[in-house]
Amino acid sequence: MEYVLKTDSLSKNYRHFKALDKLTMNVPEGAIYGLVGRNGAGKTTLIRLICGLQEPSSGSYILYGKKNSERDIIKVRRRMGAVVETPAIYPDMTARDNLKMIYRILGLTSFDGIDDILELVGLSGTGKKKAGHFSFGMRQRLGIGIALAGDPDFLILDEPANGLDPQGIIEIRELILKLNRSYQITVLISSHILDELSRFATHYGFMDKGRIVKEISAKELNDSCRKCIRIEVNNIKALACVLDDMDIQYEILSDACADIFAEVNISKLVTSLSDKNCEILSVKERNESLEGYYMSLVGGDRDA
Ligand code: ATP
Repeated sequence: MEYVLKTDSLSKNYRHFKALDKLTMNVPEGAIYGLVGRNGAGKTTLIRLICGLQEPSSGSYILYGKKNSERDIIKVRRRMGAVVETPAIYPDMTARDNLKMIYRILGLTSFDGIDDILELVGLSGTGKKKAGHFSFGMRQRLGIGIALAGDPDFLILDEPANGLDPQGIIEIRELILKLNRSYQITVLISSHILDELSRFATHYGFMDKGRIVKEISAKELNDSCRKCIRIEVNNIKALACVLDDMDIQYEILSDACADIFAEVNISKLVTSLSDKNCEILSVKERNESLEGYYMSLVGGDRDA
């Protein structure tokens, strides 16, 4: 697997406080990598380091094969676009003029491409309206448009859904999916809105106290968060026998309890079990959410 970004024991200290503590993460090419962590976990600090806005205290990272200490890191950073914290837009300018400004800053000689970006981020109809009068969602999308100006193939978005209404959240999600699927842009997105992230992330880095505590693909996560029915019976052997006959996947947890990983016809199950003199003592649906998974990793102490 090719990686756009790999970090190795990346640390950032503010005096004695470790904002990043030997953080190791790997962002595969083509991924939508969800960086998940509560407030203060260190997400923005990590993003600022990768963008070159701050220097690590120790450790290193490799971006497109270049180590952060190498000269050419500046060159590969041009392959990257980012919206860190609030989008850097000029409120007195239109969306088009904001893009023209960034084109000039990047030294691009032609404004070709601006129409495509405006179209892509859904702002082509904003005409003479100044960015300062845009809705919050429009400003976020303009911020992403500005990050796309250098035609990046790696996009970093710091909490892009923060403060957006449901419609705005959907628009950002659709934009990210389009950029990833149609334009093959690798996306690193930080968020604490887990439910939203779970709709499109292909990989997750769960962050706590400046560390990645778990890195996992969405597929691996879905497998470990799969839905199941937990059933308690007075004869586990009879249950196993019935489930085998019904060709249903299950896992025996104890001599009284099992998890069933499929939709099951309960009345058929009850009848088959009673034929074997097996009584059901309890049935509970379990659905471990992404949130549950995250809390099991980092614990519930919000002030930790
Ligand atoms: P949030 O979602 O609230 O933005 P975050 O995960 O992005 O949180 P960071 O902004 O990276 O977290 O901050 C990580 C920790 O580092 C916080 O405890 C913060 O107070 C601290 N911190 C960040 N920048 C500085 C700084 N310049 N000086 C001192 N401490 C800082």
